[in-house]
Amino acid sequence: MVTKQKSIINRILKNTERPLSRDEILVKGREYLPRLGSATVDRFIKQMCENFELVGLSFPGQPTRYELPAEKEHPHFICRVCEKVFDLDIPMRLPKVTLPDGFNLSGGEVVYSGNCPKCDGKI
Ligand SMILES: [Zn+2]
Repeated sequence: MVTKQKSIINRILKNTERPLSRDEILVKGREYLPRLGSATVDRFIKQMCENFELVGLSFPGQPTRYELPAEKEHPHFICRVCEKVFDLDIPMRLPKVTLPDGFNLSGGEVVYSGNCPKCDGKI
């Protein structure tokens, strides 16, 4: 079932050029639905992640950010000033790794860091 809230979350992520944290989704969601509750957003994020309609990205010391599943693997860029995470539209493949016994691979991530255009010159 596609609910209004879920289609709003979808639209927000489609219209943004970067992965968003739950708080950013909530703030933008309230532009469409002023009474959107944070528990509702949490519930839909959880549900959409379980259905693989949403992908969570976590970086150390950062809130988890979400994006729609990408058609191709792409690296991310994290701004050291504003801490926003951006998608880099660069096709790339992660190298295959062979893990030691007992390790289970569930994902991989290439992250570059530096300054975004808005924060250029602030460090
Ligand atoms: Zn920045």
